[in-house]
Amino acid sequence: MKPIIELKDLTVVYDKGQPSETVGARDISLQIFPGEYIIFYGPSGCGKSTLLYTIAGLESPTKGDVFIDGQNLKMKSKKELMAFYRKTIGMVFQAYYLLPHLSARDNILLPQLFARLPIATRNARVQTLVDRFGITNYADRKPSLMSGGQQQRTAIARSLVNEPLIVLADEPVGNLDSKNAQIVLEMLLDINIKEKKTIIYVTHNPRDLHYAHRVFHLKDGIIERVTRNAERGRVDGKTEDNQSELAKLSSMFPYLAESRLQAKLIVNNIVGPYDFSVLDMLEQLVERYMQKTITKEALVSALHTSVTGPGLYANRAEHLAESIATLTTEVLAVQENKKQVGLKEGDTLSLIRHHLLDTYSYALTVEQAKRLDAALTERIALRMSPQTFDEILDKSQEEGGVGLNRRTARKFAEETDLILMEE
Ligand code: ADP
Repeated sequence: MKPIIELKDLTVVYDKGQPSETVGARDISLQIFPGEYIIFYGPSGCGKSTLLYTIAGLESPTKGDVFIDGQNLKMKSKKELMAFYRKTIGMVFQAYYLLPHLSARDNILLPQLFARLPIATRNARVQTLVDRFGITNYADRKPSLMSGGQQQRTAIARSLVNEPLIVLADEPVGNLDSKNAQIVLEMLLDINIKEKKTIIYVTHNPRDLHYAHRVFHLKDGIIERVTRNAERGRVDGKTEDNQSELAKLSSMFPYLAESRLQAKLIVNNIVGPYDFSVLDMLEQLVERYMQKTITKEALVSALHTSVTGPGLYANRAEHLAESIATLTTEVLAVQENKKQVGLKEGDTLSLIRHHLLDTYSYALTVEQAKRLDAALTERIALRMSPQTFDEILDKSQEEGGVGLNRRTARKFAEETDLILMEE
């Protein structure tokens, strides 16, 4: 699938050559696909708006290229650019930017004035949007007589009136209370799901990350990492990489604490297709059990009750609690193993061992961690060749190896070699 937005080595520098020179974006390359919901996420000043405004054509690259719908924007004249943006991109801002002397209806209509459509078509489009976004009752009011939420809904309707492929939203709920914020965010989601519009939403609020297919985490003008939300799936037709379950979960739920991720992993492992509210209850119970704030007996009765728990039949609750207990022991044992490995102070080799096991142990069972530790000890002491080490990591557990998947084995072996070279 071809990207609808592509940035290649994009750098944006403000006040170039002056004492106040600031880099807003640093050598950024990214691809966004048609129908994707993307979030640019990060603290204030990390470069979210710089990227958004460059994509919107409101900021010019100091270096690099912006391709939208396959077209390099550098190649267009100013006039062509304006027409191109008008039909390709709709924008929503934190401050709404409605014209104060026009009614909501006329604000929505305005971008169409350049579109040369028959009046009846224009009015019909506006009416559809007015109804869809619940503005019908105040469509003839001016913005000053509307609430913030109503104004933002009007602004979203306005952004859609020319039927753009892409909607860019810069902190659109920054001025709204949580209820109105949710209404506006659900609207953006609806537009993404029903009309398959590509959405880029800029936010610093971690609670909103679940809306997106992918989240670009920005820091100091660069993309620090990209996480994928498996709950929303992929739009580019590719399949998932061969990652550990916990790594997958952590990229799906980047805002969750590790203990909750582990609880999620356990719940995902032992239960079938329950609905979200039941899964959520289960995860909370497992997390509490893992943290030892409830006993196994309390867990069984909590699973059984339908008041604060999922209301399972007694024998199913017993069985589930048993599986939870077994898996919890495993997960905690891996963690414990991680803590104990080589933490003797001042012992550099132990620290390396600890670091490597720590980094990778999410992917390991207790037995795998033990084998890995044994091999690593030999390798670090240089009693084992890199080739043998690599083989042991890769070999299946039945054959006496650690049984890592190919990619993890490669990465682990490479990182070990790198560290050993630095030593
Ligand atoms: P964010 O949207 O994440 O808050 P911005 O993209 O607005 O971040 O800002 C990135 C950096 O660029 C910040 O250091 C900011 O001060 C600077 N910056 C943004 N816009 C301008 C501008 N028009 N002139 C000068 N510096 C700017």
